[in-house]
Amino acid sequence: MRSQKPNFSKKSSSKKRSFSRTKKRFTNKISEHFSKLDFTCKESGKFKISLGLVGALEELRTLVKKRITIVKGYECNEVAEKKGSLKRNLHTQGLAADITIEGMSLTESFKAAETIESISGIGINKKENYLHIETRKTERRCWAEENNEEIELTQENKKTYLEDS
Ligand SMILES: [Zn+2]
Repeated sequence: MRSQKPNFSKKSSSKKRSFSRTKKRFTNKISEHFSKLDFTCKESGKFKISLGLVGALEELRTLVKKRITIVKGYECNEVAEKKGSLKRNLHTQGLAADITIEGMSLTESFKAAETIESISGIGINKKENYLHIETRKTERRCWAEENNEEIELTQENKKTYLEDS
């Protein structure tokens, strides 16, 4: 008699952990969930990051329990100048990151970021679909980024910019 048991191919049960070493070498971890590569200036390969910013991102990561992608971390002066990025550009000081959060809308992400005290600036960029956060020690400011300009968010216009489309 042939047995018709479904054929579960034997999975090797040895849980290999050896990959972590290789992974570490590639990613150059700077905190639990973020690596040096995440924040490196994409064009120049230069790197600079404030640990306060990394701390804030880890806090946010813990809160939302979802993967956070760093769209832009550090941007060196030369690249910022060339692009004519926003005048007040804290990316060039390693104090700002543009992010997206997996499975969350920009509005949801904005609201989550608002609860992290050390995040002093939040910019929502709907066109390019990212949230800019920064951690310079100042009073909290929120704005919408549009055509390389910052539009201050007020009680009146906040709703318009934070509506999920
Ligand atoms: Zn930014």
